[in-house]
Amino acid sequence: MLYYSTRSSNKKVTSSEAIINGIAEDGGLYVPEYLPKIENLKELLDLNYKQLACVVLNKFFTDFTKEEIKECVYNAYNEKFRSNEIAPLKKCEDMYFLELFHGATLAFKDMALSILPHLMTTAVKKHKLEKEVVILTATSGDTGKAALEGFKDVEGIKIIVFFPRDGVSDVQKMQMITQAGNNTHVVMLEGNFDDAQNGVKEIFVDKELKDQLLEKNIILSSANSINIGRLVPQIVYYIYAYMNLVRNKEIELNEEINIGVPTGNFGNILAAYYAKQMGLPINKLICASNENNILTDFINTGVYDINRKFKTTSSPSMDILISSNLERLLYEITTKDSDVVTSYMNSLKNKSAYKINEKQILNMRDFYGDYAKEIDVTNAIKEVYEKYNYVIDTHTAVAYHVCKNYKNISKDNKKIVIASTASPFKFAGSVYRALNKCNYEYNDFEFINKLSEDFDIDIPSPIKDIDKLEVVHQQVCSKDTMKETVCRILKA
Ligand SMILES: *Cc1c(COP(=O)(O)O)cnc(C)c1O
Repeated sequence: MLYYSTRSSNKKVTSSEAIINGIAEDGGLYVPEYLPKIENLKELLDLNYKQLACVVLNKFFTDFTKEEIKECVYNAYNEKFRSNEIAPLKKCEDMYFLELFHGATLAFKDMALSILPHLMTTAVKKHKLEKEVVILTATSGDTGKAALEGFKDVEGIKIIVFFPRDGVSDVQKMQMITQAGNNTHVVMLEGNFDDAQNGVKEIFVDKELKDQLLEKNIILSSANSINIGRLVPQIVYYIYAYMNLVRNKEIELNEEINIGVPTGNFGNILAAYYAKQMGLPINKLICASNENNILTDFINTGVYDINRKFKTTSSPSMDILISSNLERLLYEITTKDSDVVTSYMNSLKNKSAYKINEKQILNMRDFYGDYAKEIDVTNAIKEVYEKYNYVIDTHTAVAYHVCKNYKNISKDNKKIVIASTASPFKFAGSVYRALNKCNYEYNDFEFINKLSEDFDIDIPSPIKDIDKLEVVHQQVCSKDTMKETVCRILKA
């Protein structure tokens, strides 16, 4: 299996090269040349999470040996996960919450960022690069911590994370500045997330710096969700959830289900789409947005237009206007026409918008798009608690609202699996206020305790007493000194 760039079809790379490179030289994203089929669903029925992950990853990462994949999988999905099942399902009538937040940082990004470091070190060894890989990441909260945990103490790799000093939650900030590991570096940026992201991008394209680092035997790479090494591991849990439903006699083998995903960068839902293309019986892919509803408009009209106001919501991990992974869907719905994809991406860059044609809109018919307003999120959290005695987070609530509306409008009664992307403790303030109707003025840490006490749920161990951990990262830099900071850390 080889990988193309979404923006040109003449250069192919192996999966290990795609994982090391992260992004293609022409700025496109790596896509598999075809989507491998699941030959026999029934055979997957009795596999545990790790076994299933091996089957799926072997189909995509064909220049890794079976032993290498197995080692990566077993090193990733170990006791760091607080559930033996890794991704358990919570049944609420005909909706099932697929809990993807039992990893080290309480958000679904752990599912992929636990394994990416192992895939990357294996790939580096395979190519006998004999170089140190430095992962450089800008984060608005969840990705940075999940990457730090994933890459912590991984041999041959260093990781540097920049986050906006005043742009993340108290919990997220504490999670990062108390980060353990002798290869982790965390820097607070005096600026916003865009400054951090732009700064990192500039460092990536700095030819002079690249040469300077090469002399020191260092190469830079990214843990961003555009890396194919993050996307493929996400296919696993959709197949796992389906098998779980069959095993528990909730559905028949080959019965179709719908899947609902709270969507930001379009990575998680794209993995579900890939699972469908591989033959998993999925009917609709329900793409749920918050008030930054650019994807809702795109799915319903074919116009992607970022000329709109950016909104800050209670589901911050979905506050996004440019969904990078959508480029991979464009590649599929243009029937793999890289020239057309390139023209859309140029139009996005130059005019902040593009429009797909009728045929391409038709090729997107497996998707259903809608969004939740802030009040819908509050109501969804309340409703799920009152009906099922189950507390969901704000992102998951966005998906619940949209899925329920879909069911009412479409009269489609297929069972729905909802990707539950974060623990309610990660966004304890918003969740607690939704459940209590009041506008308390507690800080994040107090809200965590309140949520636990009032609703009788244990605080997940990774954030228990997090406010009492020792702060070990105190570096601050301005947006103009990011490059110097990186050089200083790497002694280059
Ligand atoms: C990143 C994230 C999302 C969005 O996932 P995408 O793959 O970017 O669409 C949703 N919920 C949470 C909690 C996240 O951290």
